[in-house]
Amino acid sequence: MQRRFSYRNERALYRRTCDQTGNPLISFYRSDAPFKVYEKDAWWSDAWDALSYGREVNLSQSFFDQIANLRTVVPRLGMLLSPDEGSAYSPYCMYTKRCYMCVSCVVNEDSLYCYQANDAKDCADCNSVTRCERCYECVYCFGLQTSAFCKDCENGSGLFFCQDCKGCTDCIGCKNLVNKKLHVFNKPVSAETFAALRAQLSSQSTLADIAEKCRALSLTLPTRSTHIVGCENCTGDHLRNCKNVSACFDAMHLEDCSFVCPCPQPTKDTHDAHYSPQSELIYDCMSAVRSSRMRFSLHSWDCDDLSYCDECYNCKHLFGCIGLRHKEYCILNKQYTKEEYEHLVPLIIAHMREAQEWGEYFPIANSPFAYNETIAQDEFPLAKEEVLARGWQWQEKTDDMPKVTKIIPAMQLPDSIDAIPDDVCNWAIECAVTKRPFKIIKQELDFYRSMRLPVARLHPDERHHRRMTLRNPRNLWRRPCATCGKEMQTTYAPERPEIVCCEECYLKEVY
Ligand SMILES: [Zn+2]
Repeated sequence: MQRRFSYRNERALYRRTCDQTGNPLISFYRSDAPFKVYEKDAWWSDAWDALSYGREVNLSQSFFDQIANLRTVVPRLGMLLSPDEGSAYSPYCMYTKRCYMCVSCVVNEDSLYCYQANDAKDCADCNSVTRCERCYECVYCFGLQTSAFCKDCENGSGLFFCQDCKGCTDCIGCKNLVNKKLHVFNKPVSAETFAALRAQLSSQSTLADIAEKCRALSLTLPTRSTHIVGCENCTGDHLRNCKNVSACFDAMHLEDCSFVCPCPQPTKDTHDAHYSPQSELIYDCMSAVRSSRMRFSLHSWDCDDLSYCDECYNCKHLFGCIGLRHKEYCILNKQYTKEEYEHLVPLIIAHMREAQEWGEYFPIANSPFAYNETIAQDEFPLAKEEVLARGWQWQEKTDDMPKVTKIIPAMQLPDSIDAIPDDVCNWAIECAVTKRPFKIIKQELDFYRSMRLPVARLHPDERHHRRMTLRNPRNLWRRPCATCGKEMQTTYAPERPEIVCCEECYLKEVY
């Protein structure tokens, strides 16, 4: 997973120009990248031919080195963008409309700063939510409406700071409630009391107080060991409608899979894969979309029978190719006949076996990205010294100072949403924690106003980072159920302070 993740940069974006058109471009790649970088239309045009970079395979040299050499010359897509209109700055999104700074989302509309959101509408700053509408700062929620700061809630509305609530309406700071209405900190309240507290959520200082109280309450109540819904014979966490699945996370409709995450759409017979929806027979791949029979490849869509390929689309029978479209029977971007290809591939595999390369993913050292630009750093964080000692790349973060009329430290923003002027969209706000500048766009200000919530005081990356820490590691530990003592598998490490219960005891507790 660490190797695969080291090839996916989701959030380190750079200004540069397209090497074909000269147009300005926002890209995953720095301007000093060794290869050419093209904007979307230029990359997809017929003005260049990826086969012109083809080379003979050398059976006395490391195959990984030969792919690494090819990777330094083939032009790359500046950013993997949704083909849909109006979702600029939303890398790795599919079927999205009018989204801004969303990453790795599927079927989203009018959303901002969401991550791995699936079928979300009018949401902002949500991670791993499904079928949610008008939600803010929610994580792992399903079917939620007009809610904020919730985790693991399902089919509810008007929920704030709730955890593991199901079918609830108008609750604040509650945990483990089912089909309840008008509750605050797990106790029933009048509609007036609820409305008064809800109104206070429009100020930043109240939010901090309630968040703190919720954390304390949560530790005194049982915590569900895993969230596995409508599944048969499955282990992992946050799974829905899966069958025969082992150690998978954040997925729906998987069948006969292991070590797959995240995957919001049906996939089967797939092992060790990430972001590979609507696929089958995928092994050790990153982003093999609508594909089959793929091994050790990345960012390749609508393909069949690929090995060690990168950024190929609508292709079949490729080995060690980069940037090809509508091609078949190619090795290192060189065209072969079917017979030549079928003769050569077993020879390459035998050569790779000898060099102990066959069956391994691309080495982290050969990634086009610095380790800390990629999602590997999110999941397996390392210090700069450790990264450099392993021979991997490291890139310091720098921000261009925006050309704005005013720069304001976040703590000087008015406390309540009512006091925020329209002009805030013309300012740069200095993050209260990281000091990095960020801006608020009109769509975002309108969202905060309609939700009656204060504007964010943290840089979008810091907000994302904090939501990621709310997520348990993608790891399963054995620990005894706090109620019955039976051993169970959970994403809560044994030393964690939560009162973690097995599914049976948890259900007895809440129903
Ligand atoms: Zn139990």
